[in-house]
Amino acid sequence: MKYTIVDKETCIACGACGAAAPEIFDYDDEGISYVILDQNEGTAQVPEDLYDSLEEAHEGCPTESIKISEAPFNGNALKYE
Ligand code: SF4
Repeated sequence: MKYTIVDKETCIACGACGAAAPEIFDYDDEGISYVILDQNEGTAQVPEDLYDSLEEAHEGCPTESIKISEAPFNGNALKYE
């Protein structure tokens, strides 16, 4: 099981994650990324067939704003830090 969430406080709207994983990440009006699956609550399980693109987005984020956990975030990107 994997869950993901974007820390919108540190995202710099670089656009890398949506390119790596367009099924998971999109951008708000200011270009800040959020998780499409659950409106960035971190409560929806990421489908297994998207694990590779999720990992690519995670590794490619220059600000480490993409968080991944085996448990839900319940809206708190910093829950496990
Ligand atoms: Fe924001 Fe990171 Fe995505 Fe760039 S890769 S848009 S900094 S979450």
